[in-house]
Amino acid sequence: MKNINSWLECVHCSKKYELDKIRYLCDCGGVLDVKRDLNALDGQELKKLWEKRWGLKKGIESSGVWRYRELMLDAPDDKIVTRQEGNTRLYPAGKAGEYAGLKNFYLKHEGENPTGSFKDRGMTCGTSAAMLFNANSVACASTGNTSASMASYAACCGLRSVIFIPSGKIAYGKLAQALAYGGITLQIEGNFDDAMRLVQEVCNEMKIYLLNSVNPFRIEGQKAIGFEILQQLDWEVPDWIILPGGNLGNNSALSKGMMELHELGIISKIPKIAVIQADGANPLYTMWKNKTPFEAVKDPDTIATAIKIGNPVSWEKSIRGIKWSKGIVEQVSEQEIMDAKAMTDRAGIGAEPASCCSVAGAKKLAEAGIIHPDEKVVGILTGNLLKDPDAVVGYHQDKLTDKGIRGTFANKPRLIKARLEDVKAVLG
Ligand SMILES: *Cc1c(COP(=O)(O)O)cnc(C)c1O
Repeated sequence: MKNINSWLECVHCSKKYELDKIRYLCDCGGVLDVKRDLNALDGQELKKLWEKRWGLKKGIESSGVWRYRELMLDAPDDKIVTRQEGNTRLYPAGKAGEYAGLKNFYLKHEGENPTGSFKDRGMTCGTSAAMLFNANSVACASTGNTSASMASYAACCGLRSVIFIPSGKIAYGKLAQALAYGGITLQIEGNFDDAMRLVQEVCNEMKIYLLNSVNPFRIEGQKAIGFEILQQLDWEVPDWIILPGGNLGNNSALSKGMMELHELGIISKIPKIAVIQADGANPLYTMWKNKTPFEAVKDPDTIATAIKIGNPVSWEKSIRGIKWSKGIVEQVSEQEIMDAKAMTDRAGIGAEPASCCSVAGAKKLAEAGIIHPDEKVVGILTGNLLKDPDAVVGYHQDKLTDKGIRGTFANKPRLIKARLEDVKAVLG
């Protein structure tokens, strides 16, 4: 693969590598950026082109990722694996905005992607890269959504997919998808961090293409979330974008994309990025708050299984982006996550637990006076409500007390006899 004027560059030591060999990390162990010569592009022309592609009915550029293909992966059409991903809605947050105490709060629903999470945006680029490299197998470690997405994209283009998941620790909807799409699913003893270590070893040893977010092409695809938000806001830059942080690829992608648009003169300011972690899986928060070196959390734990990660691969990219954007890292409790989820769901929008860190974090930052109630804020909802039905039903039946979570806003199902009087008694 030979991109014109693009290369891989280490975030840590700036060492450069050609794009035509498979490589996930620098020799120094640092993570890699895809870099391109932005001087060769005209920002205003790009914007016009992207506006023209908006609403295309078919073809590669009708995807909410490939609409921005000039800043994605330079691949010929016949190598691109796409499910018309992206094109997700940006909702006024309604009751979830009132709950957070914000007047201009929007929710970008990445759970509306083909497999129900933002991972599809990264996966369309990552799988296309696998096709460019003539891979025949792809693999990932996953807390669930990456595997669901990878299995689907691999199935679409005939690649074999190999999935490493922590045994018994991923949400049911996600496991169901991995199996249904035909992924070879290996449940390993241990947590996500153990699975991540193993899959890297396996990929290096067995010539399988790795599709975790350590893969720099996945990050490229996920930049499109930010691009699409801006396009939906007619390129008016919000004051804040808030999102959950697990392996920290997504916020790294968001900030990288924003910096590129800024460099191209498409936007004149950068939105502040707030990364929200669960307090049981908070290595980035600890580092940020205490100004200490990065240190992994040994036994991460949270009901938001998508972000139950103690040793995030992209922490260095993540910190860089938060500093660029003059952003912040915050943490929220299990109760705050599930209450924010209940309110996001009740607003009629709905999302899985990890996603609702965005709403819980917005509320917390508004209460602390860090976000002003009038500021324009976009929260990213990373995954679909139906991914984790156990968490929803558990909360509404107030059965999460063993996890220290109360059903504050529980909407309990009521058992009645099949008689009109009984219905009337309930409805009043
Ligand atoms: C993957 C995922 C996250 C975490 O994103 P990172 O890039 O790992 O920080 C958050 N929410 C959901 C629903 C996810 O699937």
